[in-house]
Amino acid sequence: MVFENLSDKLQNTLGKLKGKGKVSEKDVDEAMREVKLALLEADVNFKVVKNFVKTVKERSIGSEVMESLTPGQQVIKIVNEELTNLMGTSEVKLNFAKQGPTVILMCGLQGAGKTTTVGKLAKKLKKEGKRPLIVACDVYRPAAIKQLEVVSQQVEVPFFQMGDKISPVDISKAALEHAKKNGNNVVIIDTAGRLHIDEGLMEELKEIKASTNPDDTLLVLDAMTGQDAVNVAQHFDQDLSITGVILTKLDGDARGGAALSIRAVTDKPIKFITMGEKMDQLEVFHPDRMASRILGMGDVLSLIERAQSSVDEKKARELEEKLRSQSFTFDDFLDQLEQMKKMGPISELMGMIPGVNKQALKGFDESGSEKAMKQMEAIIRSMTVKERANPDIIDNSRRKRIAQGSGTQLVEVNRLIKQFKDLRKMMKQFGNFGKGKKRRKMKL
Ligand code: GDP
Repeated sequence: MVFENLSDKLQNTLGKLKGKGKVSEKDVDEAMREVKLALLEADVNFKVVKNFVKTVKERSIGSEVMESLTPGQQVIKIVNEELTNLMGTSEVKLNFAKQGPTVILMCGLQGAGKTTTVGKLAKKLKKEGKRPLIVACDVYRPAAIKQLEVVSQQVEVPFFQMGDKISPVDISKAALEHAKKNGNNVVIIDTAGRLHIDEGLMEELKEIKASTNPDDTLLVLDAMTGQDAVNVAQHFDQDLSITGVILTKLDGDARGGAALSIRAVTDKPIKFITMGEKMDQLEVFHPDRMASRILGMGDVLSLIERAQSSVDEKKARELEEKLRSQSFTFDDFLDQLEQMKKMGPISELMGMIPGVNKQALKGFDESGSEKAMKQMEAIIRSMTVKERANPDIIDNSRRKRIAQGSGTQLVEVNRLIKQFKDLRKMMKQFGNFGKGKKRRKMKL
């Protein structure tokens, strides 16, 4: 989960204030001391922490808060607002060119996740109806060109390369011409990464930038590197004047320092975050939603968006129809399992639900629920086509065969079939209810 440690600590500290009918200045001081420690431990920039705590304290000690009916809640609200402010208030969208193809220049150190992120971004833009082109400008590592090509194929986006003998500036110019001729309206340029910032790299990036005049210059940063990421951001921004950051690997055990300091230190927005290696694990960064997630207040909007982007609407409508007409089969059940898997790990989804805080999730066995899903899948896949379409024919001997075929126990097969039948029964009741209502309406 995102920033688990920080989140736990803040929730614990603020939880103590929550129920209080009266909050004294001393209570606020105490809480802010703990908040300060938690933020420093999460590797948030020292100056940022100092300012943050000062602002929250000043706002909390005002009479409006102290004399309100729920002072504890008010302090939490202020912390939430100030955390959001730290990260930049609201989402900052990509800049699109008014004329000609939009150019996005991607830069970053080696290993930050740049190549993967280029693919994710291209996929997202394509889904939004754009026609992106991915351009390979890392001429120092032939393997990098190949890796990017594989990523492009994976996301089914056209790929442009000229090998490693031509200068990145010439490649990017040629790529723009190619895009204009072929109707690509977004050009994503991948550049070379180095292990450390070096002058040669910066000079080359500056030249590419000057010759392509990008609408966005995005720096890809690894969230796991904490304050180092912030230093890298400062450096790149000074030399290259970036327009935004993409923060990667937020699914790992990043402490939060980078996400919480970058905006405050560089004044450049985080535009996207990535939360995994799969090509659809890139999200628009919403500071307000991130603050809510950190404070365990949930993030329902992101949850809904994720569901919308993973669920195929046509399939959902068909499913609804099938449920109503009770022609729902085990094949449809399997389809549902597939769709759920696409939404991401269950613990991550649960973390977005308000009220489900980190403490509650501690005992949640992720591998258990994933295992159960795999088991259901194995059982259904061991059924014949006829059995899946008409579960009523699955008698005892068939059940035994299915258990054997799927490497499960008979009780597990029985349980799944019972669940399926219960679901059908429930839908039948809903169906009847609907009909009854219609009939009543007609009588009127
Ligand atoms: P580059 O050197 O900057 O181009 O980095 P790559 O795109 O090759 O990524 C380096 C490693 O980080 C690869 O193993 C990626 O799969 C992994 N990676 C990239 N983004 C994420 C992410 O959001 N989460 C996780 N867990 N791994 C990531």
